[in-house]
Amino acid sequence: MKKKPTWEIAYSYSLDRTVTIDQVLNMRKGNDPRAGDLWCHKECYPNTGERLLSRRCTDRESYFASWPSEHLHQSACSYFSVAKTKRETLNYAQFYHDMRLYFSQMNLNEEPFFIKEIEFPTALYAPDITITHSEDSGLRWSKTHIVIVDSNKKREKKFTHNGHFMLDDEYYLVIKISEFTRDQLANFQRTGIERIELSWSKLKDAEDEYHSPEATRKREIEKAQHLMEIRYLQTIKKTPQQRQEERDRERQKELKRQRTVLEHPETQRFIEVVKENIRVLEKKQRPLLAEVQAIEQCESYHNGVLCEHLAGVPFEKRRITDYGFLHHEILDRAQTKLAQSYPARRIQEIKFNLYGEVKAVAEEQGINIDDFHPNFESGDQQ
Ligand SMILES: [Zn+2]
Ligand SMILES: [Zn+2]
Repeated sequence: MKKKPTWEIAYSYSLDRTVTIDQVLNMRKGNDPRAGDLWCHKECYPNTGERLLSRRCTDRESYFASWPSEHLHQSACSYFSVAKTKRETLNYAQFYHDMRLYFSQMNLNEEPFFIKEIEFPTALYAPDITITHSEDSGLRWSKTHIVIVDSNKKREKKFTHNGHFMLDDEYYLVIKISEFTRDQLANFQRTGIERIELSWSKLKDAEDEYHSPEATRKREIEKAQHLMEIRYLQTIKKTPQQRQEERDRERQKELKRQRTVLEHPETQRFIEVVKENIRVLEKKQRPLLAEVQAIEQCESYHNGVLCEHLAGVPFEKRRITDYGFLHHEILDRAQTKLAQSYPARRIQEIKFNLYGEVKAVAEEQGINIDDFHPNFESGDQQ
């Protein structure tokens, strides 16, 4: 058997206020059932609403019931219709009515909600109120949805899986009224308005806190640490070959960067200094080089002539060894001596690390050649 709807709150036309069933029963004289003109809501009186009467019960909770003679038009109350669409209760309808009225009477674009537009969606899983805030509201989100939930668990689940929450840049304020007493429901000023205003200021505080410099910095640090962890995990997952390839890529990138720095016009004067250093070193190694060249070009020994180079070889050795072989040995020694001389080694060193040499020269003058690179930080230019 389908239960007939019973109200716990009603509008008393004679008192011009919302009353609870207990208040009405207290006003009744003895067993006289009359308790003034009772309606579902003030706004529904007298044509579109539900006329009510109070029922005192002993075996169950007392309640307001719809007037028996008015069953002809099945509940014209529009708030009750919304409650039915949302598969909600009469208490929901009551709170919805009060809240809708409260927001409807609000001025546009004013504290605290800065309403640009307000809608009252009626679909089952739609919020109950959707406020679009004015552009100059100073709020960080564009819309606020208010959702009232009493007994529709599915609807509650959809909206409160995360308490009050922000989705994209829209905020959802969910008000669960199941635990409200009749007195609280009848007193929207306290249970409704205060509740909404409290949630609203808490939300704004939380938002300000979230966007404070300290909180922003803290989040940035956490984000950076998280990234580092991810990179570390990616590194240990790599094979030795992948790591080698990565190092090669890094090396190529670095060489490319160094070339760009060395080609920069500002770098040229330091390169000149390095080249001059090389020239000085070449001058120093000239005697040794000349000696090597002289040995290379010497052909006297082919004709069995004892040249100046062979003259230094002890007679005993010279007597039993081929002149050609001896001459080669002498050339070998001279070449080794040249290669191991300080100027030669230094020249090699400079040529292998031109970038480092140029950088050192510039640094002596207080200049960092890396500054000449257009995009030193990221390393990928052009
Ligand atoms: Zn009504
Ligand atoms: Zn010779």
